Amino acid sequence: MRTIEHWINGTATTAGSTRTAPVFNPATGQRQAEVLLADGPEVDTAVAAAVKAFGSWGDSSLSQRMRVMFAFRELLVRHEDELARVISAEHGKVIDDARGEIVRGREVVEYACGIADALKGGFSDQVSREVDVHSFRQPLGVCAGITPFNFPIMVPLWMHPIAIATGNTFVLKPSERDPSAANLVAELYAEAGLPDGVFNVVHGDKTAVDAILEHPDIAAVSFVGSTPIATYVHERATAAGKRVQALGGAKNHAVVLPDADLEFAASHLTAAAFGSAGQRCMAVSVGVAVGAAGDALVDALARKAAEVRVGPGDRPGSEMGPLVTEAAKLRVENAIAAGAAQGATVVADGRGLTVDGHEDGFFVGPSVLDHVTPEMDAYREEIFGPVLGVVRCDTVDEAVELINANPYGNGTALFTSSGAAARRFQRAVKVGMIGVNVPIPVPMSYYSFGGWKDSLIGDSPIHGPEGVRFYTRQKVVTSRWPHVHRTVEAAFHFPTS
Ligand code: NAD
Repeated sequence: MRTIEHWINGTATTAGSTRTAPVFNPATGQRQAEVLLADGPEVDTAVAAAVKAFGSWGDSSLSQRMRVMFAFRELLVRHEDELARVISAEHGKVIDDARGEIVRGREVVEYACGIADALKGGFSDQVSREVDVHSFRQPLGVCAGITPFNFPIMVPLWMHPIAIATGNTFVLKPSERDPSAANLVAELYAEAGLPDGVFNVVHGDKTAVDAILEHPDIAAVSFVGSTPIATYVHERATAAGKRVQALGGAKNHAVVLPDADLEFAASHLTAAAFGSAGQRCMAVSVGVAVGAAGDALVDALARKAAEVRVGPGDRPGSEMGPLVTEAAKLRVENAIAAGAAQGATVVADGRGLTVDGHEDGFFVGPSVLDHVTPEMDAYREEIFGPVLGVVRCDTVDEAVELINANPYGNGTALFTSSGAAARRFQRAVKVGMIGVNVPIPVPMSYYSFGGWKDSLIGDSPIHGPEGVRFYTRQKVVTSRWPHVHRTVEAAFHFPTS
């Protein structure tokens, strides 16, 4: 059985870990590796390496940091196949989808390649006689990332390229369910010329997370995962005096108005609900059919759900793979059953699906529940699987009210041919990322990513300009230089200009 080790100070190491967790191949249901689980001392070792590396990396030139990022970016391109296979083998998603997450993550590296521009400070000439003011930003020190299973490459790439390009060192604690991709990324950083200790990977569970949250030498924690854990991480890490980004779960609504192209909307809802088996924080999990759109939309969704090609991620032609674990499969099947028991109409039922040659895989087929209401568990809970619930509404205003009453506010989409309706919608919804005829509106790397309400705890979105702000601290210098006039008296009153 292969053992997945930590990566500390430029090398793979057990660092003394003895606890392990199984890593499955979700398409076969087989245990394929074991990953080490760190306790406090291993986290200490990684943080010590990062503290030491910060001494010189924090002082390195912008050119040096950008050169590493350019080289790293090229290596991500060259190793895309290998990375996509590693992701698919442990997560289960289809290879093309894995490539998609690599490309979207790589775009953050491309943003980091231009970090010199993003780090430019301000300058004000002559704020007082012969006095100038300028600002600049400095790195924080050691930053940590704690990431979910669903994007083992992309979500960590939302964090470490910006942290490292701005001069910090980094300790990543990836999901223990699909840990291998993080080690490959560490190898690519090393090949790109990143000094030892700047990027470290510590595998683990809650024990490692708690050690990170309490560690006195970690200045900032970036977290992406479910809302309860995001809340926990935010509370504990801020109480320990750290800066925290904490992105949580989602329940994303796609509203379809009667004036939309229904075939187009149904195709995009299907792909956005069932791609990656619904295990995306921006997956569409609620379709909101407005007025006369209702029956035709549901018919199209049921038809298209039945056409989705479900299979192992590495089988050419597969459009949707398995869920990540057996527990996730059972949870999703139970959610469909609960929906039916509470009065939803199951118009596409993915329970009991078997895939030839992969009978023990964690598959659930695309499922559509119609006539879902806000009181049902299928509406209230983040199912995080290939289940699309359809809520019927009479008006677009009713749809907006529904979305705004939902505790989550990550993404939403509107399908319409009316510019006026789209404008009203985007101004009225309390959601962070909005698509107009675009089902999964993930912002580009030069914007920032983040939801509202329970989808983002605290107030710091991730990557892009907000990422640069998060991983740096500003200094403002007021200087009188080079001539000092002895005639300017030192004053005991508060300085004014
Ligand atoms: P999760 O919250 O279970 O795990 C996330 C991380 O927290 C993992 O590294 C895990 O090891 C750690 N963790 C788990 N339980 C913990 C505990 N009790 N104490 C301390 N640490 C713990 O999330 P997941 O199942 O890996 O990922 C799916 C979730 O992530 C979904 O809710 C999804 O919506 C969310 N997500 C959100 C975004 C976003 O941008 N908002 C992006 C991706 C995923």
